[in-house]
Amino acid sequence: MNSPHPCLIDPCQLAFDIDGVVADTMDVFVTLARERFGFEHITKDDISCYNLSKCLQIEKEILDELVCLTMDDEHTMLIPPMPGAPEFLTEMAIAHPLRFVTARIWPESITAWLYQTLPEVPREKITVIASGAPEKKSQILKDLNVRYFIDDRTETCLELKESGIQPLLFVQPWNRNDPYDGLIRVENWARVKECVLLPNPKLG
Ligand SMILES: [Mg+2]
Repeated sequence: MNSPHPCLIDPCQLAFDIDGVVADTMDVFVTLARERFGFEHITKDDISCYNLSKCLQIEKEILDELVCLTMDDEHTMLIPPMPGAPEFLTEMAIAHPLRFVTARIWPESITAWLYQTLPEVPREKITVIASGAPEKKSQILKDLNVRYFIDDRTETCLELKESGIQPLLFVQPWNRNDPYDGLIRVENWARVKECVLLPNPKLG
């Protein structure tokens, strides 16, 4: 389905979710499910909805353990970035600060992950706010004067839209089947790059 083209976003007004957008967090989840719990059949494509207990045939306690393991300090550092994300963010950071708002409770490990993933970006250009809950994102974004936000959770995007922030839904297996709701969808970081107006380095 063709989404309206949001071009061109001023990077000063843009912020990002991390897990599922910049970080391919579910890659680690799937690896742990296979290697530690023996769910050898599982792939990322099986995660067809955001509520894991509704789409995976895995007991609730094991799912909770898997999610905790995936997000712990050790495994956070093993998360691969989404393809193209480090390149885009490094380029954006030349002229603009990078702002991230995550629903994680603690910012420390995912901030360390960003430092590791974006080694060329000065640390003072990276701000991470841990909201602790997705529904707290909209007020935080308003306080930051953010007008555009990229997130992989459809419900969060709909809440943001309701509160006047323009969401871009980052397409993932867990939101791909959500009914059409008028949200702007971005399929990958090449598409993000098309939507954001970065200064042309050749002209700089
Ligand atoms: Mg996310």
